[in-house]
Amino acid sequence: MSDDAATRLGETEKRVAVAAKGVGRDPEEVTLIAVSKMFLPDDIRPVLAVGHRHFGENRVQEAQGKWPVLKTEFPDLTLHLIGPLQSNKAREAVALFDVIHTIDRPKIAKALAAEMDKQGRRPQLFIQVNTGEEAQKAGVLAAETGALLALCRDELGLAIAGLMCIPPVDEEPAIHFAFLAKLAQELGLKGLSMGMSGDFDTAVEMGATHVRVGSAIFGARG
Ligand SMILES: *Cc1c(COP(=O)(O)O)cnc(C)c1O
Repeated sequence: MSDDAATRLGETEKRVAVAAKGVGRDPEEVTLIAVSKMFLPDDIRPVLAVGHRHFGENRVQEAQGKWPVLKTEFPDLTLHLIGPLQSNKAREAVALFDVIHTIDRPKIAKALAAEMDKQGRRPQLFIQVNTGEEAQKAGVLAAETGALLALCRDELGLAIAGLMCIPPVDEEPAIHFAFLAKLAQELGLKGLSMGMSGDFDTAVEMGATHVRVGSAIFGARG
């Protein structure tokens, strides 16, 4: 068993490549996001040191506490917001993140559009879909995704790169990945942000362009 994050990152990259090649995909099509939430800069640095540049955080405030310094040291890194966003944090989110995976309602889309205009920064954007229709979970319902996409594009001038989902913990993730892939195809979207430590191989086989992997790289949280 490997016991350091840089080694586990390498193993994760290999698994992504195997899964991609297994279905005839180019591994380069898949962005591996190392999810560093609840880990400290000293935990993250070894992964930066081996050249990894895509990282994910789920809280704006936590990310603000650790990433500005790392961004100065590694200006080519890409920071992904993968957690729910409140509209009163839109300013900070647009200023810090390069990709936002969690647009799920008009209010957030409007707040981001206003901030992007103000700041002249244009993070790449994904719409989060609540594929399991779970009451407590973030994400727009599948049936309402087309309308939210139209609002983003046509009214707000926001380019949407793709869709993101977090399957219910007690269900077969492959069903949700297939569902998200089909919905994205119907909407003409190429990006698919899906797959975490427990299921990223499957997600890659089903077309993920972005996998979000935390504990398989950094170890168990807290
Ligand atoms: C924490 C988190 C992940 C990573 O989860 P692991 O199981 O540790 O890989 C992926 N996506 C989201 C949205 C998360 O909040």
